[in-house]
Amino acid sequence: MYSDRINSLPPYLFATIDEAKAAVKAKGVDVIDLGVGDPDQPTPDHIVESMCDAVRNPETHTYPSYTGMMSFRKAAADWCKETRGLDLDPASETLTLIGSKEGVAHIPLAFINPGDIALCPDPAYPVYKIGTEFAGGEAHIMPLLAENDFLPDFDAIPKDKLAKAKLMFLNYPNNPTAATADKKFFEEVVQFARDNDIVVIHDNAYSEMTYDGYKAPSFLSVDGAMDVGIELYSLSKTYNMTGWRLAFAVGNKDIIAGIGKVKSNIDSGAFDAVQMAGITALSSSQQCVADMNKIYEERRDTLLKGLKELGIDVKPPKATFYVWAPVPEGYDSMGFSKLLLEEAGIVATPGVGFGTYGEGYIRFALTRSVERINEAVERMSKLKI
Ligand SMILES: *Cc1c(COP(=O)(O)O)cnc(C)c1O
Repeated sequence: MYSDRINSLPPYLFATIDEAKAAVKAKGVDVIDLGVGDPDQPTPDHIVESMCDAVRNPETHTYPSYTGMMSFRKAAADWCKETRGLDLDPASETLTLIGSKEGVAHIPLAFINPGDIALCPDPAYPVYKIGTEFAGGEAHIMPLLAENDFLPDFDAIPKDKLAKAKLMFLNYPNNPTAATADKKFFEEVVQFARDNDIVVIHDNAYSEMTYDGYKAPSFLSVDGAMDVGIELYSLSKTYNMTGWRLAFAVGNKDIIAGIGKVKSNIDSGAFDAVQMAGITALSSSQQCVADMNKIYEERRDTLLKGLKELGIDVKPPKATFYVWAPVPEGYDSMGFSKLLLEEAGIVATPGVGFGTYGEGYIRFALTRSVERINEAVERMSKLKI
């Protein structure tokens, strides 16, 4: 019944984890879920209020524009100017997305012919690879290794693969490794993309979620980046708005136009009322973001302190709400996550869920309170590892 593209999908590991979690819950265990990368705090009030006002206005009830409300795209451009000094033309260099997942999934359709290659990091957000394959392309894996600070090594890409590469996905601050990239790396990316004629998609979903005074540089702030790529910014993690489905793409106008062409033939744009709430999020005080980061920072420190006492030493991540921890000796990532779930009632995501090169790691999401994280650490300390 199903197409080859569906039949060739890898078994969905997260469904297996969900089943195992449900089975443990059914036994009456109080499960602590550090698995999901979904903020536990509500969307800030001023954004919710703005949505309530907008949805009462019947003008928001019709089909939205394919490319997004100009007022939202202008707010996005202004926010990029304010937060990272980018100069963008809202009309040609911005595009509203129905979440960055939608953007990532549709982008290969604009640039990949059957047989073309997209360079995809591993471990990574799974949609880069699957979106490429859905478009008939091939994903060439760029391993993210600890010894390279979880940055891809472009010299390791075989010449014949490079010749067919049209697209590259990057994501820093990174999910799942929590690694960051500096401007020097982004300069190398620009050079590499120029030399090999590759379109760069920088997925910047964790752009604002940073700690200890660190600020994540924008790929587009590097000289020449506007010639080769775009960045995706999402309101999901930044403003606790995962359910609202709102993000935007900014950067090279030809790349933006290509994605717009795909979208105008597939979807009908983001709900105007959601975009109006998005304007409020982007143009109001950013104190709510700083407040959330404080909360995540405290949770991060709580978890790291606990892991350290268990002999798992992780360098404090400067960004994202993830802790990417090596699993103890004698375990693989599935085995250790199974142990955590079945013996301690803790859900964490096995590294292999993000690709082959995630083996040997487990990802904790800082999406539960300090009290719950302390409880999780307490339970872990009783495990015989
Ligand atoms: C969460 C996440 C997304 C999805 O963001 P949405 O805007 O909610 O679709 C995209 N990329 C990465 C790396 C993520 O972790």
